[in-house]
Amino acid sequence: MFRIIGKLFFVFLAFNSFAQDTLPLFVPVKPEKPLMFCSAQKEWIAAVEQREDWVEVKGISNLVIQMPYATFDNFTGHNVYCGIQRAFLHKDGMQKLRWAANSLKKQEPNYKFILFDAGRSNQAQEVLRTAVRGTPWQHFVSSPARGSIHAYGMAVDVGLLNENNELVDMGLPFDSFAFYAGKKGEQQALEQGLLTETQVKNREFLRSIMRQSGWINLPSEWWHFNAAPADSIRAKYTQPLPF
Ligand SMILES: [Zn+2]
Repeated sequence: MFRIIGKLFFVFLAFNSFAQDTLPLFVPVKPEKPLMFCSAQKEWIAAVEQREDWVEVKGISNLVIQMPYATFDNFTGHNVYCGIQRAFLHKDGMQKLRWAANSLKKQEPNYKFILFDAGRSNQAQEVLRTAVRGTPWQHFVSSPARGSIHAYGMAVDVGLLNENNELVDMGLPFDSFAFYAGKKGEQQALEQGLLTETQVKNREFLRSIMRQSGWINLPSEWWHFNAAPADSIRAKYTQPLPF
């Protein structure tokens, strides 16, 4: 009996260290046939444009839109947004994004925001989730059933560009599945030499700019910010398209 328990304990330990060591290396398998999700994205944009409380993200001088989901170069390998580099938010989210941009202008006039994503249809969310469903990394991608905060137009994925229009180094790229992709694993990664002090400082700077405008950072992703607590958004806001 003790031998069995001992064995189980060993398996438990082995699994734990396995999960820890391999998580940073995980890259979802790319599809054999990459797809363009055009009708779904166009249907969603049409629904968004009908909404008086949603707006297109534009007119912010220190913000550049470069959405990887509107290309094939993202973790799913599909062109989820049909190549359409147009971003939309609920006007409450948009207001906070403007505040953040003003704040950035004051503190780092030569920096710009790079917007990786904003409002997102639940159909697109399903494409993202499918790429990781059933893997230990599925917790990185919200299930459409629960509703991503992006679907309410109240979340953004942002990074920073420096004075040379280069990405400010955050140690890991947007949409990394590593355990230290967000604040949660930063201390450990710093101790293990996986992140430098500068990279953590850069993340802190982005977080502080966003925090000053009321954005709440997701602890597992340095780039993701909600415009209010997730539960209150789910209770107060609606999605442009029913899912
Ligand atoms: Zn996000």
